[in-house]
Amino acid sequence: MRGLVFRGPMQLSWEEVPTPEIVEPRDALVRPVAVARCDLDPAIALGLYPMPAPFVMGHEMVGEVTAVGDEVPNVSVGDLVIVPFQLSCTRCGTCRRGRTNACEQVAPGTAFGLGPHGDVDLGGALADVVRVPWADVMLIPLPDGLDPVAAAGIPDNVADGYRCVAGPLAEHPGAPVLVVGGLAPSVGLYAVMSALALGAERVVFVDDDPTRLQAADRLGAESVDAAGRWEQLGKDLARSFPVTVDANVLDHGRELAVRATALCGTCTSVSGGAGARASLPLQQMYISGIRYEISRVHAHAMAGPVLELVAAGRLDPSGLVDAVVPFSGAVDGMTDPSVKVVFSNDLA
Ligand SMILES: [Zn+2]
Ligand SMILES: [Zn+2]
Repeated sequence: MRGLVFRGPMQLSWEEVPTPEIVEPRDALVRPVAVARCDLDPAIALGLYPMPAPFVMGHEMVGEVTAVGDEVPNVSVGDLVIVPFQLSCTRCGTCRRGRTNACEQVAPGTAFGLGPHGDVDLGGALADVVRVPWADVMLIPLPDGLDPVAAAGIPDNVADGYRCVAGPLAEHPGAPVLVVGGLAPSVGLYAVMSALALGAERVVFVDDDPTRLQAADRLGAESVDAAGRWEQLGKDLARSFPVTVDANVLDHGRELAVRATALCGTCTSVSGGAGARASLPLQQMYISGIRYEISRVHAHAMAGPVLELVAAGRLDPSGLVDAVVPFSGAVDGMTDPSVKVVFSNDLA
């Protein structure tokens, strides 16, 4: 079959790769229909986020079930499904606590489209077929009427934006939210979308990129252009928001998000930063009682509440999709400047 193989920075091409098969009775095969580009994907493709190669890319997918093993009674051939990007059994201790990014049954980080983890290589969604283990619990039926293109980001970046604000807003209902945008462009804007859907009284979006600022405006946020005045904004917005999100990833963005967090508020980071180490003003955070949350998203656990908001008509993930690119155009599409690209399967 064909797969979009990453072989190194700027080395991306469609190649023949082994076709997956049903191996275990709880497996299913899924033909990806719509695959959203994760915010991490362009950084991988450009070599800004070094990854061991080769591997098939693509990990935010909605697909059609093409085969099921003997122990997948709840899914049938032809069903459209959402596939959380991290492999989780949903039954071990950490999965049961909703920490589905840390399933005890597999190596940390085991996911589609991000290379092998331990002895598991799940392959990627930019391919003809993907094998999904534990399909009876992994696969989430696509709700009737929900467009696969709209839903494609739910397995990762939409859920990631949601979790940044859902927990903190449950603690501070209706509180104003600050999102600092940047290198996690869609996650930050999905956090804006989620905060508004969850009833934040106002959402301020700070960034220095005109396209993202316009997108935030369209979503209903108050956008603030930080170009050339990150430091000043830190003073202007100091301790103003019980809920803040750092989707900027660089030092100036993280510093602004922490500085703008109100006393006893929560700042959530969607990334470990651009380098191996980063600094935080821990003394000030201690005195102010600021909690700093940092983790990968728990994709499987977050998909449910996101779908509830979608079903209620309060969140429309398609509102950020500004480019739909056929699989055959995915090499260029991987680094397209759009905020959220969705690849649609045109493989014959
Ligand atoms: Zn991702
Ligand atoms: Zn588990």
